[in-house]
Amino acid sequence: MATVDLHLHTTASDGRLSPTELVKLLGERGLRIASITDHDSTEGLSEAYVAKEQFPDLRLIPGIELSTEAGDSEIHVLGYFLDWKDREFQRVLSGFREGRVGRGRAMVNRLEELGLPLEWERVLHFAGDGAVGRPHIALAMVEKGYVPGVKDAFDLYLGRDGPAYVDRQKLSPVDAVGIIRGVGGAAVLAHPSYVKNLDAHLVRMKDAGLAGMEVYYSHYPPKTVRKLREIAKRFDLLPCGGSDYHALGQDDERLPGHIGPPEEVVEALRARCARGAASPTED
Ligand code: AMP
Ligand code: ZN
Ligand code: FE
Ligand code: FE
Repeated sequence: MATVDLHLHTTASDGRLSPTELVKLLGERGLRIASITDHDSTEGLSEAYVAKEQFPDLRLIPGIELSTEAGDSEIHVLGYFLDWKDREFQRVLSGFREGRVGRGRAMVNRLEELGLPLEWERVLHFAGDGAVGRPHIALAMVEKGYVPGVKDAFDLYLGRDGPAYVDRQKLSPVDAVGIIRGVGGAAVLAHPSYVKNLDAHLVRMKDAGLAGMEVYYSHYPPKTVRKLREIAKRFDLLPCGGSDYHALGQDDERLPGHIGPPEEVVEALRARCARGAASPTED
């Protein structure tokens, strides 16, 4: 059981717990430091900070997960300690979320062509107020009985090589690092085991100011953690991580605090914020 979890989702994107419900779970599970990292959204943070008042031993760090395209793979970049209330930053995030709607509709059109029609309203129903994502399409597919579970929807249709997959906006990983640093934050490469040509991407992202990469992640076994810790060391990146909890209800889903970095990594991350350790944003 880890006391730090720096990768968590809520209903502000494709998680199934509201920020209040998630914070309650974090408190009950004895987490000491956590970051909510919704996809292209910080809309859950205000509510989370209110909920956190019931849990004085829990420290919440503002976070985000940005989706980027790297030609050969999809790369997710996490950001921490950001000045998330910055208006220009919020405008950029709104643009990304609008892009998600267009992409979601395009994927629903593909599914229709494949003989699996969905009502767009059902996708929006599952998304609620949150940033639309493939998991919401997957849930609508499960509801229709097209697939038994969310994972099957990804394996058969929505995964990167699947017949209903549609590319996202062309934000590069280096751009994402720049956006995060532009609001005073520290950028961290998410789930690196999914990244093809990892070394080449790390060289470019490190040049752009990448602070860390996930080493402790969801299902990663000790062997993978060891390997990634060595790569992080070689690139002088802080070994970060967390559960990537979505509350999707899959049997093998890892709960918050299942895995995470040691507490001292958080202070080191703070020190690597774009504006230095002087005044990173904590709420
Ligand atoms: P999107 O943001 O629309 O590109 O969807 C990406 C999200 O889908 C990821 O952050 C995960 O939450 C989820 N996801 C990706 N691959 C899978 C998979 N194979 N099974 C279940 N969920 C997945
Ligand atoms: Zn997600
Ligand atoms: Fe991700
Ligand atoms: Fe995630």
